[in-house]
Amino acid sequence: MKNNKPGLRIGIIGGGISGVALALELCRYSHLQVQLFECAPAFGEVGAGVSFGPNAVRAIVGLGLGEAYLQVADRTSEPWEDVWFEWRRGRDASYLGATIAPGVGQSSVHRADFLDALVNHLPKGIAQFRKRATQVEQKGGEVQVLFADGTEHRCDLLIGADGIKSALRSHVLEGQGLAPQVPRFSGTCAYRGMVDSLHLREAYRAQGIDEHLVDVPQMYLGLDGHILTFPVRNGRLINVVAFISDRSEPKPNWPADAPWVRDVSQREMLDAFAGWGDAARTLLECIPAPTLWALHDLAELPGYVHGRVVLIGDAAHAMLPHQGAGAAQGLEDAYFLARLLGDTQVDADNLAELLEAYDDLRRPRACRVQRTSRATGELYEFRDPVVGANEHLLGENLATRFDWLWSHDLDADLAEARARLGWENGSRGVLRQG
Ligand code: FAD
Repeated sequence: MKNNKPGLRIGIIGGGISGVALALELCRYSHLQVQLFECAPAFGEVGAGVSFGPNAVRAIVGLGLGEAYLQVADRTSEPWEDVWFEWRRGRDASYLGATIAPGVGQSSVHRADFLDALVNHLPKGIAQFRKRATQVEQKGGEVQVLFADGTEHRCDLLIGADGIKSALRSHVLEGQGLAPQVPRFSGTCAYRGMVDSLHLREAYRAQGIDEHLVDVPQMYLGLDGHILTFPVRNGRLINVVAFISDRSEPKPNWPADAPWVRDVSQREMLDAFAGWGDAARTLLECIPAPTLWALHDLAELPGYVHGRVVLIGDAAHAMLPHQGAGAAQGLEDAYFLARLLGDTQVDADNLAELLEAYDDLRRPRACRVQRTSRATGELYEFRDPVVGANEHLLGENLATRFDWLWSHDLDADLAEARARLGWENGSRGVLRQG
C-alpha cells in the first residue's frame, strides 16, 4: 500500500494462539491498523501442554516469535533431543519404536506460559476484551461486526480466529450459500492432568519402572485408548493426556447441553484404563484431579473466505489432537496471511485476490491435516484398517508418518501466492517505531 493511502483496517475476532500470533505480526506494520477483540475478560489458556512440530516452530520463528517461544519451550535432554515420541504397548510398556523429528524433537510449552509470552509483546491499545462478536455485515467493501454489548467495529478485513465454536463461520458459509457447520463429537474423550515429575519419578522407582519413561516423551497404545506424556516447564511437570474411545456408534452424539470439559474423579479415569499395565496406571495414579474433555472436530469446510471475512485456526479447521497439529495449522495460517498483508503491495483492490490465494493454498493442506489427525487416532488405537494391532507395521508406519506434515514448505506456497498477485518480489512494510 502506498504511503499516501489510508492504512488497511484489520479486525481480528478471537485472542487464542492463532489470533494473537497474527495480531502480533500485523501490528508491527505502519500500513496496517489492527484491532483484536476477545470475548473473555482477559487472554487465557488452559493449564495444559501443547506440542509443536518442526512446521509449527518454523511458523513461530517466521512470525518473529522465536525468542518468546524459546523462553518457555521445553526440549528433551540429550541424547533423546530429537525424539518426538517413543511408542509403547499400553499393556506392558514394551518398546514399539520411535518417531524422530530432527532438530526439533518434542518441542512443547505450557499453554498459559506461551500465550503470556506472546501477549507480553502485544502493544497497548490493540486488544479489547469482553467483546463477543455476534453478527457480521458487509457493504461496499466495508465489514461491520456487531458485539453482544451493543457496540460495533468497522474494518476493511475481518479475520475470524474465534475457535471451534466460531460465530463468524456461519457468515462465511452462508455467504457461499452453504449450511452452517457445527462441531462433531468424535467418540473420544481425553483425561488431562499435569504431574510433578519428581513425584512420578518416585512412584516409578517404587514400582521398579524405568525412569527413562519420565524423561522422554511417551505414547502408550492400546485397543480404543492411548496415553501420551511429555515434559513441560523445564521438565518440572509432565503433561499427561489419556484418550479413551467408544466406537460403538458410527455417528457419536454429545448432548448439546453437556459441557465439553468437566472435572472428574481419579477413580473414573482409573476404571477407564483398568486393563492397562503398571507404567500407565502408576502414571494416572499421580493425577488426583483430572479433567475430562469431549473431543470434537469440524468437517472439512468448502471455503474459508466470504468477501472481506476470512477464517483462520480452529474456526476454519478444528481437528482432533492426535498429530499435535491444530495450533500449528493456526500458526501456519497466521504466518501465511502476515507475510502477504505485511507487504506494502497489498491494497483494497487486491485484497480479494489475496484472500483467494489464502483459500486455495492453505485449505487443502489444513483439510489433509484434519483428515490425517482422525486417521492417526485410529492407528494409535489399533483400528487402522491395514495396520490393526500388527506391532511391526505400527512401528514402521509411525517412524515416517509425520514427515509430510513437518517438512511442508510454506514459503513455496507464499511464493505461489505472490506470483498469482503479480508481486514479483516480497516488499515488507515499514515497521512501526517503539
Ligand atoms: P482458540 O484457542 O479456541 O481461541 C479462540 C478465541 O476466540 C478464544 O480466546 C475465545 O474466547 C475467543 N472467542 C470465541 N468466540 C468469540 C466471539 N464470538 N467473539 C470474540 N471472541 C471469541 N495443537 C497443537 O498444535 N499441538 C498439540 O499438542 C495440541 N494438543 C491438543 C490437545 C487437546 C486435548 C486438544 C483439545 C487440542 C490440542 N491441540 C493441539 C489443538 C489446539 O489446542 C488448537 O488447535 C488451538 O488452541 C486453536 O487455537 P485458536 O486460536 O485457533 O482457537
